[in-house]
Amino acid sequence: MTELVVAIDQGTSSSRTVVFDRGGAVVAAAQQEFPQIYPRPGWVEHDPEAIWQSVLDVSRRALTECGATADNVAGLGITNQRETTLVWDRDTGECIHNAIVWQDRRTADRCAKLRASGCEATVIERTGLRLDPYFSATKLAWILDNVADARRLADAGRLAFGTVDTFLLWRLTGGRVHATDATNASRTLLYNIHTQSWDEELLAMFGVPESMLPAVEDCAFTYGRSVADTLGIEVPICGIAGDQQAALIGQAGFETGMTKSTYGTGCFVITNTGSEALTSSNKLLTTVAYRLDGKVTFGLEGSIFVAGSAVQWLRDELGFVKSAPDTEAIASATGVVDHVHVVPAFTGLGAPYWDPDARGAVLGLTRDSGIDHIVTATLQAVAYQTCDLTRAMSDDGIAPSVIRVDGGMVANDWFLQFLADVLQITVERPQNVESTVTGAAWLAGLASGLYGSLDEVAALWASESRFAPRMDAVERDRLYAGWQDAVSRVRGSG
Ligand code: ADP
Repeated sequence: MTELVVAIDQGTSSSRTVVFDRGGAVVAAAQQEFPQIYPRPGWVEHDPEAIWQSVLDVSRRALTECGATADNVAGLGITNQRETTLVWDRDTGECIHNAIVWQDRRTADRCAKLRASGCEATVIERTGLRLDPYFSATKLAWILDNVADARRLADAGRLAFGTVDTFLLWRLTGGRVHATDATNASRTLLYNIHTQSWDEELLAMFGVPESMLPAVEDCAFTYGRSVADTLGIEVPICGIAGDQQAALIGQAGFETGMTKSTYGTGCFVITNTGSEALTSSNKLLTTVAYRLDGKVTFGLEGSIFVAGSAVQWLRDELGFVKSAPDTEAIASATGVVDHVHVVPAFTGLGAPYWDPDARGAVLGLTRDSGIDHIVTATLQAVAYQTCDLTRAMSDDGIAPSVIRVDGGMVANDWFLQFLADVLQITVERPQNVESTVTGAAWLAGLASGLYGSLDEVAALWASESRFAPRMDAVERDRLYAGWQDAVSRVRGSG
């Protein structure tokens, strides 16, 4: 009787383990936050042992809660905060430095120097990414250059590099398996997404010895078995994907043109582009959406730095709402606002602008403008920014056909209707909005044979609400032109 799948979601602020039954129902779940470390402005680290301990704690709690045993668990999947970089000693299993988190900007100068020396074209062509501190390679190089003895140990083959999935897999298997999946590899800046291999020229560019790198496998693949002294039971670890890719999988975005958009603190949009790795002319990222049975499905990805956090700003800094859900009643009563624009570029603008110097602004105020207009315009800004991304995707050759949404903000019906109106695309909210952890569970279910095909998995996805566009296209164009004008006024304003 092997009917359960376990999924670990190791996120930026917390770790979570969820146990699902075959039909996709949650039978147990546990979650725990862990500390963020900010050694200097712009630097963000995690203690690897805090990550590991939190994963152990939530996993043991969830497994105990539902009475999981080696006999009734078909497999375990891992999804994780992407790009975050760890280096450990293969002999001792200890990390030689804290994890350097994806948000960390300490390698901005290194990236600028490489850009100035003309390296970026090669990086984009091979990896689909950009030369930015966000990705793993310069973080890994920083550890090698700044930790005493690291380079010598690395050259001697003693050190292992991993993103969080790889680190957890290593620890869960008692140091037996050093591997990652193609989605996580595709975020390192060292992996050639076209040849599906580590790229010698990129390794040389960043000064990374190949001996440090994990093997790269499919997302649904039996990587190894957990050893009993970690989770208490031995189970096959057989699914891995980075968090945003796992969300696309959990939204059953298996067809070309299907798009998922996650509205949490920030917003991440990925559109499935099928077997084609589209090169963006609009500064979007080309990434591995998933790799199954050796076959790569690509995605185009864009992100909005500030989404739900703009709602938090309304609540915490401006005191305009008592709680985030209050924004829905205010926007419903106010209706679409066309003259006030909030551009929440608090930390610059992401794709398609990539303008780190832009800063936020509230524009178009008149004597009768009030709190309600600013609250409504803030929700609208998140929709307009999504539209910036979907239009960039269309320009790059892939028009999103349907948008499946998840994350905290999608509880807001008014926001989703406005989103559908601005995008002129139907927006779907699933019954199960836990897409990320579901994606990891489905991968493990596929590899373990619990599910026979992607079609079988897709049948588990169920729509809760559909928001069809209701606004006429002329009105939408008028509103969107107002937004574009507002954005043009904040660019380079920092
Ligand atoms: P994360 O995973 O990044 O921590 P969540 O997916 O939990 O984020 O989403 C939380 C965000 O959603 C918060 O920033 C909050 O402001 C926003 N949010 C929650 N409920 C609503 C709502 N009803 N309307 C608008 N925003 C909301």
